[in-house]
Amino acid sequence: MSQEFDLVVIGGGPGGYVAAIRAAQLGLKTACVEKWTNDKGAPVLGGTCLNVGCIPSKALLDSTHKFHDAKHEFESHGINTGEVSIDVAAMLARKNTIVDNLTMGVAGLFKANGVTLIHGTGQLQKDRGVKVTAANGSESHLKAGNVILAAGSVPVTIPSAPLIEDIIIDNVGALSIKQVPKRLGIIGAGVIGLEMGTIWQRLGSEVVVLEAMDNFLSTIDKDLSKEAAKCLKKQGMNIRLGALVTSTEVANNEVKVAVKKADGDSETLTFDKLIVAVGRKPYTEGLLSADSGVAVDGRGFVHVSTRCKTDAPGVYAIGDIVRGPMLAHKASEEGMMVADIIAGHKTLMNYDCIPWVIYTHPELAWVGKTEQELKAEGVAIKVGKFPFTASGRAMAANDTQGFVKLIADAETDRILGCHIIGGNASELIAQAVIAMEFGSSAEDLALTVFAHPSMGEAIHEAALAVDGHAIHMANRKKRK
Ligand code: FAD
Ligand code: NAD
Repeated sequence: MSQEFDLVVIGGGPGGYVAAIRAAQLGLKTACVEKWTNDKGAPVLGGTCLNVGCIPSKALLDSTHKFHDAKHEFESHGINTGEVSIDVAAMLARKNTIVDNLTMGVAGLFKANGVTLIHGTGQLQKDRGVKVTAANGSESHLKAGNVILAAGSVPVTIPSAPLIEDIIIDNVGALSIKQVPKRLGIIGAGVIGLEMGTIWQRLGSEVVVLEAMDNFLSTIDKDLSKEAAKCLKKQGMNIRLGALVTSTEVANNEVKVAVKKADGDSETLTFDKLIVAVGRKPYTEGLLSADSGVAVDGRGFVHVSTRCKTDAPGVYAIGDIVRGPMLAHKASEEGMMVADIIAGHKTLMNYDCIPWVIYTHPELAWVGKTEQELKAEGVAIKVGKFPFTASGRAMAANDTQGFVKLIADAETDRILGCHIIGGNASELIAQAVIAMEFGSSAEDLALTVFAHPSMGEAIHEAALAVDGHAIHMANRKKRK
């Protein structure tokens, strides 16, 4: 006999668990199948994000930011601390406690909302059947009115740098390094590479980032990537562009990395640890039976419509296994959208207003299109930029690196993009997201009252600067 549900969600990451909670709130009899197991053999919710992604990485970024401030910034505030040192074991223990609290919190939310958690590996079968294989190999079967696939993603590996426990590591290993490595190599100057590099560099590692592309952060606004490169270089991060890793060799607790440089020359670098962070790929291994009816594209992503419908009736897919940015908040919003659709509500997600953040210091955050994309599309634009060096709050906080760049349509004044590099950019970007979600013009933001003193005033000033009327910056235009 198979158990029956209105909805079965496969995967309990930020896509799947949010979808399950929303569906249960809307009155659907909901189960979530999750295979993640802790060291006691119990199921763990939260997926990549809570366990080995967003949350643990930000916990370590926050710890190391405080360490850096205590070591290098406190003195300028007149605070004398004496010798500052880091207890890596305590830092990792704190991170683990945060992860445990959050994952247990999600389990509590499942209970409170009446979501049934089924521990095991789910596979979609024909006509929305779901086979669940438990850790001991026993099988059970579920029948579902609807299914949401939310199996997430896994790191890409490269043949030239196969993972070797504790020495050539991915994001999981990078979040649990037990001693500060003297020499840390990172393959890939993407989001993970820069965040992990920042963590360990603040603790004293010499960090070398090997990036295959000739351009740094090639998909983001050029002003932002240029400023980020400048700031990270100043911090001592050695980012080598056009550097292709051709082979690695581990011996005597170190790794020798052969690199082909942009000029064609080769060199060998030696590190104590090497982090491989060259992207992630959708995780669909074993997820679909041959007759499930769900199509997967050439890159392994489950094929879906704008409303996340797969090619099989009643089967949806969300989060990292489908097109679009691999971001937790994108996965969660898709989860809510799909739960609403299944419950019979009309809803739509705005893919044009998804913010991105890179949690280095200064932080990078953006939403909408870049200046380069808009120019390539032939859109006439106006750009307003305001530097944090001219912000009173930034000066008070000793945090004056970076700027806000706001892009508006030259004709309609509608905001088309916002690109921020600076302290608290991850929080500031929400102001631009809300403005864009409401279809605001730059003038709408310029007419909005911002608290003084606040970092947000830089957004106000950038909006004023779109028409050359920033107050705390030399004006380009006379006010009419
Ligand atoms: P996942 O979180 O990967 O969850 C999928 C779940 O499905 C897992 O728990 C898995 O065990 C389970 N599963 C898979 N297959 C099966 C199966 N067959 N049966 C049962 N269960 C299954 N994003 C941000 O927005 N902000 C950040 O700051 C951020 N930082 C990150 C830092 C790192 C180091 C990494 C690696 C990622 C980061 N991300 C961040 C990306 C974010 O973690 C992902 O975009 C997000 O977790 C995707 O959510 P998801 O629900 O689609 O998949
Ligand atoms: P990424 O796509 O951000 O960066 C990978 C980098 O590796 C790219 O610059 C790429 O050119 C480079 N690369 C690829 N192959 C290479 C090779 N053989 N040698 C050298 N360089 C190579 O991927 P990531 O950093 O692994 O992160 C994966 C995804 O996880 C991100 O795209 C993002 O969606 C998500 N994530 C988000 C956050 C956040 O929101 N703050 C943090 C971490 C991860």
